[in-house]
Amino acid sequence: MSEHLIEVRNLNKFYGKKKVLDEINVTIPKNKVTVLLGPSGSGKSTMIRTFNGLEPFNSGTITLFGETIAANNKKQWAIIQTRIGMVFQSYDLFPNMTVIKNILLGPLKVQKRSREEVIKKARDLLKEVGLEDYENAYPRELSGGQKQRVAIVRALILNPELMLFDEVTASLDPEMVRGILDILKNLANQNLTMVIVTHEMNFARQVADKVIFLENGKIIEQGDGQSFFENPTTKRAEAFLESMS
Ligand code: ADP
Ligand code: MG
Repeated sequence: MSEHLIEVRNLNKFYGKKKVLDEINVTIPKNKVTVLLGPSGSGKSTMIRTFNGLEPFNSGTITLFGETIAANNKKQWAIIQTRIGMVFQSYDLFPNMTVIKNILLGPLKVQKRSREEVIKKARDLLKEVGLEDYENAYPRELSGGQKQRVAIVRALILNPELMLFDEVTASLDPEMVRGILDILKNLANQNLTMVIVTHEMNFARQVADKVIFLENGKIIEQGDGQSFFENPTTKRAEAFLESMS
């Protein structure tokens, strides 16, 4: 297999007549962190959602784990999706289930793993994110930052080979942001392949092995993270960095 976990070729997507992804060609390197940057409305969420089949597209191809997936082949996507974790801005926890039940649902019901094994793993992960005392709490009893930690644990317990994060700190109070970013940094150090959409530029600069910069549904620049931040090659990327600093 190539060192790219995802290869996107000539991908196009329309909402009605509006082209929201325009001839996208990108690669996502394996065991690295790729940060997706761009102004609001540039197509970041749409693009990251095509990576796990949540967003149908009009033309082009996506190759994941060496397998090319047809845009609308639901069966093929369903199999690939078991290898990908995703965390969104909204945590989407089940409100009527405790923290531990939220976390165990996927590994027990979908992956059919042993209860003993997954409970142990769940407790280890909860400890790692500082929530070891909250397994019997309900989502409504948690802060936004704590809920987001649970959402991250719920994704990680499935042992994903790829993690997608779409603005996971965007709806958090400022004092909660740091903790979540530290968790992501920690994951980055474990060589998990990650794609992260974020507006936290200091964080992006610290973790990005690769940057993809998007504007109006087009890739303006993609490449090495350090070069992007220190030496953007386009005026638009430069202006974007300026506006974010
Ligand atoms: P970003 O995440 O970079 O802010 P999005 O991917 O959410 O951008 O949106 C890209 C473009 O697609 C925007 O112009 C947005 O208005 C449009 N868009 C997103 N979702 C829909 C939808 N469900 N229906 C119509 N237009 C949409
Ligand atoms: Mg978005």
